[in-house]
Amino acid sequence: MSSTAEITDVTQRIQDQLIGIGHLVNGEILPTEESFDVVAPWTGEVLASCPEASLELLDRAMSAARRALPAWAADIDRRKEALLTLAERLDAQAETLGLVNSAETGKPAFIGAGEIKGAAAHARWYAMQDLPVDTLADNETELVQLVREPVGVVAAIVPWNGPIIMLINKIAAAMLAGDTVVAKPSPFTPLASLLVGNLIKDIVPAGVVNILAGGDELGKAMTAHPETNLVAFTGSVEAGRSIMAAGAPTLKRMLLELGGNDAAIVLPDANVEEIAPKLYRGAFALGGQICAAIKRLYVHESIFDQVVAALAELANQAQPGDPFVDGTTMGPSTTKPQFERVKGLIEDALANGGTAVTGGAPLDRPGYFIPPTIITGIGKGVALVDEEQFGPALPVMPYSDIDAVIEEANSTELGLGGSIWTSDIQEGLKLARRLRSGGAWVNRHPHVGAEVPFGGMKQSGMGREGGAVGIEAFCELKTISVAFG
Ligand code: NAD
Repeated sequence: MSSTAEITDVTQRIQDQLIGIGHLVNGEILPTEESFDVVAPWTGEVLASCPEASLELLDRAMSAARRALPAWAADIDRRKEALLTLAERLDAQAETLGLVNSAETGKPAFIGAGEIKGAAAHARWYAMQDLPVDTLADNETELVQLVREPVGVVAAIVPWNGPIIMLINKIAAAMLAGDTVVAKPSPFTPLASLLVGNLIKDIVPAGVVNILAGGDELGKAMTAHPETNLVAFTGSVEAGRSIMAAGAPTLKRMLLELGGNDAAIVLPDANVEEIAPKLYRGAFALGGQICAAIKRLYVHESIFDQVVAALAELANQAQPGDPFVDGTTMGPSTTKPQFERVKGLIEDALANGGTAVTGGAPLDRPGYFIPPTIITGIGKGVALVDEEQFGPALPVMPYSDIDAVIEEANSTELGLGGSIWTSDIQEGLKLARRLRSGGAWVNRHPHVGAEVPFGGMKQSGMGREGGAVGIEAFCELKTISVAFG
């Protein structure tokens, strides 16, 4: 898709989908008069106006979710059937919904559509799961069971980097568990999420899934709302702290997937040619806007120059550009504040002794584009190393002592992911155990999937999404105990 006529056609297809866009509340699509602008990050211009939900509409959604709960919670077969239909519809709409996803996030079209397909696969995985009953004792004197029951109304709040996959992960887990949901996308990327509401509307009974667009204030109201039983949140550490405080008065259940500052450690025996493309993707996929991207890279001094050169070669091949132009491999920062932040971190690193081996400054074109930037010559004490950048700027640092580098990798309040790169798998496994992070990977970074529990240690969050423990996070555990005689 690259001629002007084709791009005009894409723009028209996006605008066509947005006609009549509204919140999903109690089984109805409701446009509202209040609205806010959504900016296309690849142009810096307004893409569309998005309806904005009021607190009164939030109350209506919450009440509907509460009312829908008993009947929904009682019928797991219906829930699984609904999940399968959701998966089918997401698959069928992957290309069209992907266009809106790409337009508002800036990610290349093939990645925008791929995310919808990924979301479909996740919904399908949840449709295949069960809520097991564990028998803890079954003898002549007693029967003891551990059962999973719905937690109730879930407030699901998601960020802008993977809006649809994260929305569906939460909605699908809640649907399987028998919960009802009030969900809110990021105000930077609300459009495709509201369109998901159109897909879900007639799959589930009214009130089971509600999707509202709005800003941080709406999110805050959701987390303090008396009807909310579980807050399932993905976003920044700062918001996570405020959410815990908001939920404290009513002791809400919390599932917090927060930020990371993941370290990757390359051992001297690693095969550079083989690992370089994986390291590159680990750091720069989605322009580094992945919670568990490689955010600090430590390379043994004996192969440091070789690794930096291999990464630089890959960075120089990147094609940042418009999402709908053929050949684009990389989009912009999705939001202006994020663009400004990454730009500031790069400037600060360069002012503090860093060298930009590649990139180093925004592209001279409209939109929020920063090319893949590899920085050497900095270390702990510089913000790009100490803080989460969430963008295409990677500090690469040499080390000589493995114990010291593991300690440095762990010397942060964050602990989402981490990785070891080596040809010696046993050594990799041993060192992975020493990383203080929810995910510790060998020769890959990150590793995510519906079946894989994912989440952070320390201030990267609490609880896990995905896998059997992820389903449990959307449930209350109940012990049933019967005494005979
Ligand atoms: P953010 O915290 O600013 O916003 C995320 C969502 O929370 C948005 O919908 C926002 O409107 C809402 N929100 C903001 N403040 C709130 C509050 N006090 N109460 C309730 N809701 C509130 O995060 P962001 O900038 O959209 O996303 C980037 C961050 O998300 C990064 O730190 C990244 O690492 C993290 N992230 C984590 C994961 C994970 O799984 N651990 C995945 C993706 C992104």
